[in-house]
Amino acid sequence: MKIRKIFVAAAVAALFAGSAAAAPTTVEGTGVGKHGDVTVAVTFDGGKITDIKIVKEQENKVLAKKVYTDLKNDVVATNSADLDAISGATFTSKGFLDAVKDAAKKAGVTLSKADKKALKKAAKTLPATSSYDVVVIGAGGAGFSAAIEAKNAGASVVLLEKMPAVGGNSLISGAEMNAARNWVQPKLGITDDSPELHAEDTFKGGDGKGDMKVINVMTQNALDAALWCRDYLGVRFEDDNLFFFGGHSRKRALIPVGHTGTEFIAKFQAKADELGIPVITNMKAEELIKDKDGRVVGVKATMHGEDYTFNAKGGVVLATGGFGANPQMVKKYNPKIDERFKTTDAPGTTGEALYMAERAGAELVNMGYIQTYPICDPISGVIELIADARFDGAIMLNQEGKRFVEELDRRDVLSEAILKQTGGYCWVLWNDKIGAVSNTVKEHPTEYDAFTKQGIMKTCGDLKCVADFTKIPQAQLESTVKRVSSMAGKGNDKDFHHRAGLVDMSQGKYYVIKAVPSVHHTMGGVRINEKAQALTKDGAVIPGLWAAGEVTGVTHGTNRLGGNAYTDIIVFGRIAGKAAAEAAKH
Ligand code: ADP
Repeated sequence: MKIRKIFVAAAVAALFAGSAAAAPTTVEGTGVGKHGDVTVAVTFDGGKITDIKIVKEQENKVLAKKVYTDLKNDVVATNSADLDAISGATFTSKGFLDAVKDAAKKAGVTLSKADKKALKKAAKTLPATSSYDVVVIGAGGAGFSAAIEAKNAGASVVLLEKMPAVGGNSLISGAEMNAARNWVQPKLGITDDSPELHAEDTFKGGDGKGDMKVINVMTQNALDAALWCRDYLGVRFEDDNLFFFGGHSRKRALIPVGHTGTEFIAKFQAKADELGIPVITNMKAEELIKDKDGRVVGVKATMHGEDYTFNAKGGVVLATGGFGANPQMVKKYNPKIDERFKTTDAPGTTGEALYMAERAGAELVNMGYIQTYPICDPISGVIELIADARFDGAIMLNQEGKRFVEELDRRDVLSEAILKQTGGYCWVLWNDKIGAVSNTVKEHPTEYDAFTKQGIMKTCGDLKCVADFTKIPQAQLESTVKRVSSMAGKGNDKDFHHRAGLVDMSQGKYYVIKAVPSVHHTMGGVRINEKAQALTKDGAVIPGLWAAGEVTGVTHGTNRLGGNAYTDIIVFGRIAGKAAAEAAKH
């Protein structure tokens, strides 16, 4: 079925106000987006906008897409820049709309005030009921993997996403992906890794609360999943560098170009487009439909308050992510994580779909295990990817200028340790020698600018400057850095046993940033088996229902190790998609 969104010219014509007629003219205007200026060239004809071209911008490609397509169409259709922002791309929307207003002002054109009701009516949407072999809910990494595999297994597929933009947490993640025996390891001299070791690390890292059968499936299929991403989807990985995340016994995390999920989600979206998979945004799954035998056979969903039904012959794949951006739900399952915590998560990570799964009979497990990411922006809560220099030797200091934990320990250990320090925050400090390996300042220029402007980050030529900025006593800072430098090299850290080895920090330039823990990943969720089938409290399979990714609850135990989310979502997304497609054949 073709998905259409057609503007009815007559309905929107009434919205046009316009101003005095004039010859067609194109004028540039500028607004401020999330990552700097957004400049557009607006063509006006007879006081009405007839075209908008993007001249210059540096926004997140995936999030900005809807702004430059849907929002742009709405502006042209209504001749107004007083429209709602695309949720999930608020700053880009605002920058774009301000740029249009700026251009209108320069052109002497008065724009109209949009009537939202008329705008909604103007968009003709989908049929109320449609049927597919497989319905996938949630367009993050797990959902895209499932939809693409289902389609390639011969099924007709639809992917439903409640937000206006795709990507979920998968988009904003650092997106490193663990795979033992990957192609980069031999280049770094790592020849003794194995899926078994990876599984052992994962199980141990989750305090033995994960399901070893499921973990083994993840680690055994990790390399194949990474190769699928590289060779089939076209995801580009750094060819000579890996991340050594806390809790792992080997360096095994592949790094996507750009160090974020944008690389993955852009390639996922392109593949879905190529395969003709409809991805319906703003469509929220509300209820799973079961037949009289208890098989899940479809989804009831809503878009802008209208009801839609998606029948699923083979079944439904639930890939709706976690609930880290739902503070009430976080507190309900883990009262220790209260209002003091911000979140790193995407706005759609609100977890109602977990209750939907529960209503369909699925068991929710490990819900109280909620991971905080230790190194986040004290103001917005987002992860400071720039401080990933920690994986190559950056040290963590408290306000007194002392180290207080092994910097490569597990996330939960680090978060708790930070919260115990004065003020509940820490400083991450590194120098150019560490920066030369990690390159995080170069990899994350917008973070660098934003954090520096925000006043939580500083680049310094010497330690006096660091002490002045952080208000850490200079003598203690110098003494800590001296001691760290004297213990540089693997196995020499007598204080906290840094597993990769400390680095000589005696010389600048130095980079320092303030950090706090923030809610990051919810380990709990739907109980699944090795085949990604959702299970009931009694361990019975719920026919027709598969689940994959952060919405599931048995892989990571109490604590997810870095780089395991991407492995998890892609391995089980693929398994779920293939299985649901297979079920449609019977
Ligand atoms: P994962 O990493 O497991 O793929 P993500 O957070 O990346 O999880 O993606 C999950 C996606 O599911 C998000 O884009 C989120 O907005 C979407 N989602 C959550 N609940 C629903 C729902 N009820 N209906 C449709 N989409 C949903």
